[in-house]
Order: sequence, then structure tokens, then C-alpha cells
Amino acid sequence: VLRVEHLNKFYGDWQALHDISFTLHQGEVLTLLGPSGSGKSTLIRCLNGLEDFKSGSLYFKGQKIENDAKNWQALRQKIGMVFQSYDLFPNFTVLENILLAPVKVQKRPEEEVKKEALQLLKRVGLEKYVDTYPRELSGGQKQRIAIVRALAMHPEVMLFDEVTASLDPEMVRGVLQIMTDLSRVDHMTMIIVTHEMNFARQIADQVLFLEEGKILENTPGKEFFEHPQTDRARDFLTSMD
Ligand code: ATP
Ligand code: MG
Repeated sequence: VLRVEHLNKFYGDWQALHDISFTLHQGEVLTLLGPSGSGKSTLIRCLNGLEDFKSGSLYFKGQKIENDAKNWQALRQKIGMVFQSYDLFPNFTVLENILLAPVKVQKRPEEEVKKEALQLLKRVGLEKYVDTYPRELSGGQKQRIAIVRALAMHPEVMLFDEVTASLDPEMVRGVLQIMTDLSRVDHMTMIIVTHEMNFARQIADQVLFLEEGKILENTPGKEFFEHPQTDRARDFLTSMD
């Protein structure tokens, strides 16, 4: 579904990503691993048009994405993203947060989206919070709402950047479970940045291991965790244990 070819990204004169190429297949989970500052967030943001890049190509379903604003607006509806800081709109209720983009941007009928939103909320166990404001929710609840809000757009690919990093340990499991279900039940195509190694081991079909903005390994998940090819990846896995 998504193909990246020779992507180079600079912040000013400094090169943050070097010659990144990989393919993400339909229904596959790609996990991005690597030390802090290795470029994981930068890469994921490039895939969603939140960062522009100097050279390289991006293909979505075989079509080249030209680097202009109009293109990105359309593409962003197909590529959902959830961050570490669940950026829900504080002045809107949970339901309003979910309805906003599908109704205003995608122009879908409000009743239809509402019905679907309620189903999604039920699925993540939060249906009783429809009329609640974000400030009254726990971090884990907010993050589950942020995922529902992204799903309400009917994305074809989901990007997750450390969505459990700022959660209390007891909240982490519920959020990871939703992502696991999305993969196992819905066969959602996903790119996940995570520091939860047990989760990554279970969910990753493919692992991209980044260091200093370069891909050091692009390996099937099982193989990466059992036999990392590089010393750097081996050290990384040891340090995460
Ligand atoms: P972490 O695991 O800590 O989230 P990361 O792998 O996501 O790290 P990035 O956030 O992608 O790393 O950052 C990669 C490098 O790019 C870092 O050295 C960072 O300082 C730099 N960087 C990130 N954003 C910017 C920016 N807006 N301007 C300049 N440099 C940036
Ligand atoms: Mg990051």
C-alpha cells in the first residue's frame, strides 16, 4: 500500500533521514525501532505530510504522492495518525471530537457517523463517555478516544507514534489491546513506533531498525527479535530488556 524510495530529510543543513526505502504491504504491521533521536518520529511524520522532505518518493497504492498541499489533504484522510500526546480538542465532547473530521472534512452524514462512532466507542469500552469532555478522562481513555477518532475517518493505514509512552502502566495494556485487535481482527495496515518490546515482538510482521537516520535492518519481525543481524540492534534489544 505504501512505498518509500530513497527518502532524504533535512532540518536546516543537518540530515535527519538518509536514503530511507521500504515497502508496507496491505494488512501488514511494520514496527519502527531504534534509539532516541534515530529519526522514528521524523519518518512517520514524513509519511503523513507533517514534515516535507528534500528528495525521495512516496507511493500510496502505486500512485506517486506529489509534494503539494492538496494532495496531502486527500492522503491524510487515508492515513490516520495517533501521537504520544492525545491531542483531543478540549472544548469538544468525546462525540464531537470524533464527528468533527468525518462530518466537516469528509462531508459524511452526521447520523451515519454518529452511529459508527458509538459502535467504535463501545468496542473500546468507552460508550458511556460520549458526552464527556477530554479533561475528565484518564490518559488511557483519552488515547483510546484518539484512536477511535482516527478510525472514524476510515483510514487505510494507521500510524502510531509511541501512543503508550506517557500512560501509567495500568493504562498501557488496554491501548495495546486495541492495536492488537485492529491488526488481528480488522487486518489494518499499520506502522507502529513503540518502546514496548513484548508488544512489538508479538505484533510486528516487519521491523525497521533505525539509527542516526539510517535503516540498519529491515527484517521480518520474528527474525529481528530472535537473530538481529547487527551488533547495534542486538545492543538495543538487550538495553530494552
Ligand atoms: P524518540 O525515540 O526520542 O522519540 P525519534 O527516533 O522519534 O526519537 P526524532 O524525533 O525523529 O527521533 O528526531 C530525530 C532527530 O531529528 C533528532 O536528533 C532531533 O533532535 C532532530 N529533530 C527532530 N525534530 C526536529 C526539528 N523540528 N528541527 C530540528 N531538528 C529536529
Ligand atoms: Mg519520537
